[in-house]
Amino acid sequence: MLEQEEIIGKNPTIASLLKKVKTYDAKADTDLIRLAYDFAEKAHSGQTRKSGEPYIVHPLATAHILANMRIDPVIVIAALLHDVPEDTKVTLEELEKNFGSEVSSLVRGITKLGKLKYRGVERYIENLRKMFISMAEDVRVMIIKFADRIHNLTTLDALPAPKQYRIALESLEIYAPIAGRLGMDEIKGWLEDLSFKYVYPKEYAHIKQIRDERMRGKEKFLQDAQDRAWDELKTAGIKTVDLYGRNKRLYSLYQKLQRKGNEIAKVYDIVALRIIVPTLADCYAALGILHKIWRPMPGRIKDYIAQPKPNGYQSLHTTVFTDSGEMVEFQIRTLEMHEEAEFGVAAHWHYDEHGHKRPAKEISWVKELAEIQKDVLNRLSDLDEIKVDFLKSRIFVFTPKGDVIDLPEGATPIDFAYHIHTAIGNKCNGSIVNEQMTSLDTTLKNGDVVEIIIEKNRKGPNRDWLKFTKTHTARMNIKNALRLQEKSVITGWIRQVVGKK
Ligand code: MN
Repeated sequence: MLEQEEIIGKNPTIASLLKKVKTYDAKADTDLIRLAYDFAEKAHSGQTRKSGEPYIVHPLATAHILANMRIDPVIVIAALLHDVPEDTKVTLEELEKNFGSEVSSLVRGITKLGKLKYRGVERYIENLRKMFISMAEDVRVMIIKFADRIHNLTTLDALPAPKQYRIALESLEIYAPIAGRLGMDEIKGWLEDLSFKYVYPKEYAHIKQIRDERMRGKEKFLQDAQDRAWDELKTAGIKTVDLYGRNKRLYSLYQKLQRKGNEIAKVYDIVALRIIVPTLADCYAALGILHKIWRPMPGRIKDYIAQPKPNGYQSLHTTVFTDSGEMVEFQIRTLEMHEEAEFGVAAHWHYDEHGHKRPAKEISWVKELAEIQKDVLNRLSDLDEIKVDFLKSRIFVFTPKGDVIDLPEGATPIDFAYHIHTAIGNKCNGSIVNEQMTSLDTTLKNGDVVEIIIEKNRKGPNRDWLKFTKTHTARMNIKNALRLQEKSVITGWIRQVVGKK
C-alpha cells in the first residue's frame, strides 16, 4: 500500500522543506519560503484538521509533495499559502502585498477551485469539467491542487464514510484523468491508488491479493534479471543511470484485468524493470543488448520513442523470457523521458539533477494546454453533442457557494441573476464581483465569483437593463416583469379612479 511517508517524507517540518528545496535549487529564496510558512501558520492558528492536528500540517505536507517532485519554489510558496484566503480572515490583497502577484494569482486560482461544492454527481462532474477549461489558464494551479488532494486522500480516515467516498470518487473520476491527460503519471497513479480502496473496497482487496500471490517468490528471479541486465549494459559500455523494479499500480492493474477478461496470465507488466540511460541512442542499444541475451516475446516490443503515446509518453518496452524462464517487461528511457513521464506538464517547473530548470521547450506548455483544452472540449462535444464553438463563446462564473454557472460571452450580473432565479433577477439591486461592488452592466469574465444583492421591496426590473443583458432568459423575464408592472400600475390607477379596493 502506498504510504503517506512515501509521498510526503518522514516528519515533514519547515526545516526539512527548506533543506529539500535547497537540494534542487541552490538559489531558492528560503527566507521567503520560511516567511510564507510563518504567515500561513499564523493565519491558520487555532484551526485544526478533522484528525485533530493543527491545520498548518496540511499546507506543509502539500508543499513537501511538490518539493519532493523538485518543483519551482514559487509553486511551493503558493502551496504553503493555498488555504489562507479560503479559511482565514487574511485576504488575497494582503498575500499580494507580502508575496507578490505571481504567488497571489496562484493562490487565487486554488481558492476558486476550492469553492466548487458537491451537488449531485452528474452536475458536479459537469461543473468540474467546465472548471478545468477555465482553469487551464495557469496549469500550475492544477499542480498545487493535485498535491493538495493527494495529502487529503492520505488523511481520509479521519472523515465520515460518505465524505470519504465522495472525495475518493471525485479524485478517481476527475482529478486522476486530468493528471493523466497532463502527462503526470506519477501523480495520476497516486490519486488512483489512494482513492481505489475507498471507492471499490472489495475490488481493491481482491486485486491486492492477486498481485501479492502473483509476486510471491519472484524476488530472486527479478533480482537476478536486474543484476544480469546491469552487467551486460556495463560490458557494452552503456552508463546506466538507474535500473530498478517498479510494481504495477493496483488501480491500473485492476483496469487492465477488466480489459483482459480477468486473466492475470495475460498481464505481463505486474512488475517491470526500468532502465534509465543517458541518451536516445543508448535506449536502442540497451534494447538490442536485452534481445541478444534473452528471447523477446513476439508482439510485445513497443517503440513509444518513435511513436509517443498521446500524452507524450516516451519509452521502449519489451517483454523477454529471462534465464529462469520467467517473463519480465523492461522499460527503457532517458532521464528526460523519465521525468516527462513522471511529471508531465509539471516537468516544466521541475529542476533536474544538476539543479537547473528545464530549458523552455520548442513547444511551450501554453500550446500544449491549448491542445489539452481542445481535447477536453472535443470529448465534451462527443458526450453532450455540444459544439466546440458554442462552448468557446461561453464563460464560466461562480456563485459564492461554488456552483459554476455558464453564460454567453459578454454576460452581465443581470444575466447571472436571472440565470439563478427569476425572483433574484427581479429583486436585483446590485452585484459584488470578486468581492468588489460592481455596476450591473459590467461584463463578466471567466472565473469571476458573482454575488447578487437583492432588495426585498424592489418593485421589479429596470427597463435600461435590456440594453446590456445577453441571455434570452434575462430579456424574457425582464419584459414579462415590466409588462406586469405596467399592468398593475394601470389596474391600481383604475382602482383608484373607480374607488374600488
Ligand atoms: Mn488544502
